[in-house]
Amino acid sequence: MNANFLQTPIEYLKGVGPNRADLLKKELGIFTFQDLIHLFPNRYLDRTKYYNISELQKTNADIQIKGRIIHLKTVEQKRGKRLVATFKDDTGQMELVWFRGIKWIRDNLKINESYVVFGKVNWFQNTFSMPHPEMELLSVHEKSLRSAMQPVYPSTEKLSSSGITNKVINTLMQQLFLDAQNNFEETLSEQVLNELKLIPKNRALFNIHFPENSELLAKSQYRLKFEELFYIQLQLIRKNLIHKSKIKGFPFPKVGAYFNTFFKDHLPFELTDAQKRVIKEIRSDLGSQAQMNRLLQGDVGSGKTIVAFMSMLIALDNGFQACLMAPTEILSVQHYNSLIEWCNSLNISISLLTGSTTTSKRREIHENLENGNLQLLIGTHALLEDKVKFKSLGLAIIDEQHRFGVAQRSKLWHKNISPPHILVMTATPIPRTLAMSVYGDLDISIIDELPPGRKDIKTVHRFDANRLKVFRFLKDEISKGRQVYIVYPLIQESEALDYKDLMDGYESVVREFPLPEYQVSIVHGKMKPADKDYEMDRFVKGETQIMVATTVIEVGVNVPNASVMVIESAERFGLSQLHQLRGRVGRGAEQSYCILMTSHKLTHDARTRLETMVRTNDGFEIAETDLKLRGPGDLMGTQQSGVLNLRIADIVKDSEILKIARSYAMQILKSDPRLTDPQNAPIKNTYAQLAKFRNIWNYIS
Ligand code: ADP
Ligand code: MG
Repeated sequence: MNANFLQTPIEYLKGVGPNRADLLKKELGIFTFQDLIHLFPNRYLDRTKYYNISELQKTNADIQIKGRIIHLKTVEQKRGKRLVATFKDDTGQMELVWFRGIKWIRDNLKINESYVVFGKVNWFQNTFSMPHPEMELLSVHEKSLRSAMQPVYPSTEKLSSSGITNKVINTLMQQLFLDAQNNFEETLSEQVLNELKLIPKNRALFNIHFPENSELLAKSQYRLKFEELFYIQLQLIRKNLIHKSKIKGFPFPKVGAYFNTFFKDHLPFELTDAQKRVIKEIRSDLGSQAQMNRLLQGDVGSGKTIVAFMSMLIALDNGFQACLMAPTEILSVQHYNSLIEWCNSLNISISLLTGSTTTSKRREIHENLENGNLQLLIGTHALLEDKVKFKSLGLAIIDEQHRFGVAQRSKLWHKNISPPHILVMTATPIPRTLAMSVYGDLDISIIDELPPGRKDIKTVHRFDANRLKVFRFLKDEISKGRQVYIVYPLIQESEALDYKDLMDGYESVVREFPLPEYQVSIVHGKMKPADKDYEMDRFVKGETQIMVATTVIEVGVNVPNASVMVIESAERFGLSQLHQLRGRVGRGAEQSYCILMTSHKLTHDARTRLETMVRTNDGFEIAETDLKLRGPGDLMGTQQSGVLNLRIADIVKDSEILKIARSYAMQILKSDPRLTDPQNAPIKNTYAQLAKFRNIWNYIS
């Protein structure tokens, strides 16, 4: 079937017309024949079985019965009329009942002819009755394309109240299949079909809408899910390949004195295998002709900083500059402080540029960047300002990428004639399946190993009623010289209340931990930045033992001496937030703790989140659970949900199919990048049509 047929506007289908077409467009986004064919059922009703009236039970399942109407009467009742039919088969009698549309039904029902009725059965006044059954003459039923497994299509209130019932959709689908003469173009190559034993497109489309049996239905679902995921992967991977062939990066052919000296003489610790592997991946990117566009994932504390530093050394070895951008001032300062010693030992010039950099210092930085005297620049968004011009920016590293938008990332590109290599680092693990779908066009490196000797953080769940015990535990830890975070939720919708909770909490902490023995800091979003910094600073220096805060500390501060994280109202936090918060402790040599405080009222999901936190420290496991609880749309935010708007596949449930689809897409593009092999013609055609009719793939820089 050619593409033109499939692109026919839906109003041209027999039985549709302008009114229904309007509804189908508005309610289901069905504009063309193709859209209707791709309206896949949510579920199927098993209509393989016909019940005898004598074996009816008081269940609420939908069932079907063959029989005849032997009598029809209208019953007056207080509020309106009802139409009651006596329905009979060889084993007994029951009633069919209508409250609406009585006249039409009365005029159209045929007495004494065989019908199949379908619906829910009630037990009422000692008889079984079926209100508003779906009815079909047995003679029609037997000829119908509709099969035993009856599809249930997505619908809306508006559709069903306007008479576009499931049955109507089904009839339209039949009409469409008749018009198409079951002649849909194959979209996969022989080779893929054979190797994966997939059923042909025609067969799959037919069986998804009119299943011949459950085995064929399962095969159809598999084939269509594979196809959907395969084309997404094909587009993502192709985009990546085109990017690599079109956008030349600066080739950094050599690993020189900076890198080697650091590696030989100044390495502060032995790198983990994961760190070594990732550095190798980055080195190979930087050495190639193409611009690097890599995502580095590694849990909090997995040691991304040194990987970033050594990557920057490669840029420097090749005569280029590098920059590292972090989302907050505090984080940039920390990065700067950890890098400056290494830089000094290697004689590398490094500067820090943030919102609070003085004008004169700023001017000096701008100048030295442009004349090339400054090799490394660390900072915040301030790096993105137009005045910041590099002589030769070779590598830009972005920490904690979810805080920066895509637009900001692309701004870094324009700092040069050629785009620099880009490495994005994130501590929020993205489940592999999601990463494959959403970041499928980026290259991904993963640090999946913590440095040795790190003690797992002990996590417990405590109810508010046990607060005194928790306070006693905190006092013990503080007496050993440790520091403590106490974090309160702050959610926009309930901001006023949340602030009240925070202040109440702060007061009770101050009461419980009085001066002069204890010093308590507080940090929240309503404070002036200068006050915030002052309080943070006191805590970082160890002048205060307790930091009461809202989630402002979520990102990246490093206070190795802080060993206890208390999270208040933990049931209100999402899993990834809880995990991020917990990552603030466990940075020193001491045993660290995370205490999740909650009320007794917990939803099922909240319970799952808490149990997951208590059970594991593994960020990837937590991310997978989070994905299952929240679904992909929520996890990624609305920005990218379009990509995940799948018609039939589900990236959580179908992750196995996704992996196969990705590896096939990769294999095919590797051996036939332009899809010129005649064998791949069906793939090439489908790909071209997708590109023509839908273009949602430019969501990432
Ligand atoms: P993150 O991935 O959260 O940015 P960091 O780079 O800040 O992690 O590293 C966390 C801590 O672990 C730092 O104190 C760092 O010096 C230390 N570290 C990193 N890698 C290693 C290693 N291979 N062996 C021992 N300690 C390491
Ligand atoms: Mg970090």
